[in-house]
Amino acid sequence: MKVSAEVVKGICPTCDEDTMLVGLTNELYRCMNCGADLQQHVNGKISYLPVIATPSDKNIQPFEKEWKDG
Ligand SMILES: [Zn+2]
Repeated sequence: MKVSAEVVKGICPTCDEDTMLVGLTNELYRCMNCGADLQQHVNGKISYLPVIATPSDKNIQPFEKEWKDG
């Protein structure tokens, strides 16, 4: 079983540097410069989008309880 991290060169959208990106999965890369996780998008050309550590949908509505009738 071969374990090898794929390293590609690309423009990091987070730090805006032409840098090395290490493949974590088939479509997830990490910028060697700033450490941001990037998702590879291929639509005509390869581009990288920052993977924001968004809270899950469940946690996005902390105030939902306050909106009730009455
Ligand atoms: Zn970066």
